[in-house]
Amino acid sequence: MRGAIRRLLLSMLDPAKGAPPAAAPAGQQVWMIVGVNGTGKTTTVGKLAARLEQEGNKVLVCAADTFRAAAVEQLAVWAERSGAEIIRGQSGSDPSAVLHDSLSAAAARKCDIVIVDTAGRLHTRSNLMQELDKMRRVANRKVPGAPHEVLLVLDATTGQNGLAQAREFMKTTGVTGLIVTKLDGTAKGGVIFGIVQELKVPVRFIGIGEAIDDLLDFSAEDFVESLFSEMPRYAQS
Ligand code: GDP
Repeated sequence: MRGAIRRLLLSMLDPAKGAPPAAAPAGQQVWMIVGVNGTGKTTTVGKLAARLEQEGNKVLVCAADTFRAAAVEQLAVWAERSGAEIIRGQSGSDPSAVLHDSLSAAAARKCDIVIVDTAGRLHTRSNLMQELDKMRRVANRKVPGAPHEVLLVLDATTGQNGLAQAREFMKTTGVTGLIVTKLDGTAKGGVIFGIVQELKVPVRFIGIGEAIDDLLDFSAEDFVESLFSEMPRYAQS
């Protein structure tokens, strides 16, 4: 019975499979990281920057969450740790302007990949969506094919509300992949079954802690296995 359930769950995650994005050998890549506040966007940008730097890419992070001053400071710390470059705007400045500057700087400094941290405030949701849409357009005007990835960060502990978030971000930002954070706690992240089935986007990475290397490629097999284990599978020792 367990075997049958495992197989069924794995087949439900089929659309979630797909190789994690890798920086293209030629041309600058732009990845936008979106999601509501507190899901782990800034932390994930830091972890991604570190991983891509380790893989030999020249990374620039764009601190476009100008709404939350602490996010910019937080990102500066991550950038220093990972060896990535950072471009930041004044608190309250237009995120699209910061993105524009970041893309110019990335071209001048010959960076391979720009990772964009975006705002995620909930109470002005329609403004947020307009802002993200504008950022998409700015990116596209400056770099052909950009944004190459729009990765939606979902907090595993928010449960079914994640589906509503995914629907909304999908509508405006054209999400290309998911990152599920906080799987190191007791939350199992079962909401991704519904999201993957409905929106047909792959899960790219999972966050399993607050440290710089706590970001793993998503494995459907490991994920399904984690649903059966008594102990949280991704728990930190
Ligand atoms: P943002 O508002 O979306 O940018 O979220 P932050 O990056 O500021 O993260 C919010 C909180 O979640 C911080 O305390 C992070 O350290 C924490 N966090 C982010 N990712 C993970 C994760 O994978 N596991 C755990 N346990 N905490 C995380």
